[in-house]
Amino acid sequence: MSDKPTLVKCLVWDLDNTLWQGTLLEDGEVHLPDEIRSVIVELDQRGILQSVASRNDHDLAWKQLQALGVDEYFLHPQINWGNKSTSVQKIADKLQFALKTIAFVDDRPNERAEVEFHHPEVRTYTEADVLALLDRPEFSPEVVTVDARRRREMYRANALRDEEKDSFDGPDEAFLRSLDLVMAIKRADGEDISRVEELTLRTSQMNATGVHYSDETLRGLLKDPDHEVLTITLSDRFGTHGAVGVLLLERHAAVWHLKLLATSCRVVTFGAGTVLLNWLVDQAAQAGVHLAADFKPTDRNRMMEIAYRFAGFTSDACDCLATVTSTGAGIQSLHLVTERRPDPTTMRLISPDLTVANAFSR
Ligand SMILES: [Zn+2]
Repeated sequence: MSDKPTLVKCLVWDLDNTLWQGTLLEDGEVHLPDEIRSVIVELDQRGILQSVASRNDHDLAWKQLQALGVDEYFLHPQINWGNKSTSVQKIADKLQFALKTIAFVDDRPNERAEVEFHHPEVRTYTEADVLALLDRPEFSPEVVTVDARRRREMYRANALRDEEKDSFDGPDEAFLRSLDLVMAIKRADGEDISRVEELTLRTSQMNATGVHYSDETLRGLLKDPDHEVLTITLSDRFGTHGAVGVLLLERHAAVWHLKLLATSCRVVTFGAGTVLLNWLVDQAAQAGVHLAADFKPTDRNRMMEIAYRFAGFTSDACDCLATVTSTGAGIQSLHLVTERRPDPTTMRLISPDLTVANAFSR
């Protein structure tokens, strides 16, 4: 892992003589070569987001992107007369991406230098590099999932949601209800597993143990009647957030052992973790068992610990824990004596009945 470069999550394009040939305000007419159009489309297919940082007349440049039929590929475009380093920072802030995951391509050495000076973590490229970007490892994710291909749409929907939230005066709970959120919890099948693996790799902040379960391990567990592998997707009236969580559970007679819980930080603001844990507590209560959850504090998953504590998990001892084997060094077992929990008030839940063992082989 350590010798692979950090994947680029967003490429920021200069326009004049980088994305298109010509200088819009001087030449009046510019040309987008087919090879560059192909790069834009392929990056999008790989789930790499794209934006624009251009010193240009905003309306004129945006109209030109529309005329070329590529405007839809660019999120949070910064077309203004300000510094490009400021534009790059704004794009990273809007997307909530670390600067080390941002790349910037510009034909002008002074613009690249200005960005490099303020943001040494941002990788910069010249116009001559563009056609070879697709061959570079930092632009080549190993797994391209359905969600990766739809990532741009999801981020676009996020931008619309944020705008709506900014203009909304009511309390958060009312805002959440206005989104018509639907959480679907599903017993995973083989097709879900690649989505899940990508999620567990990307969600270190919200992974309860920091333990990475490989595709192969999870696939193996699909057939094990003592294990449940569940995937969680979230959608609302703006569209889907895709796969946002994975949960791995082992059943014992007196206790259900939660071995893995990872959720995307994209959906923390929707209270998705709390809704999920409450549902699980309620299911375990109906089955008459306690819950034990593996937890290992890391410097990034404090929010997950808060979610567990908030749901009622404690560090108390219980006889049931004798049957639970934790999966790695430094992992604690959090414990909960279950009781029925009410349905969520902020979203609709579609879920399997875990009290009926999943007898059908998948
Ligand atoms: Zn117990």
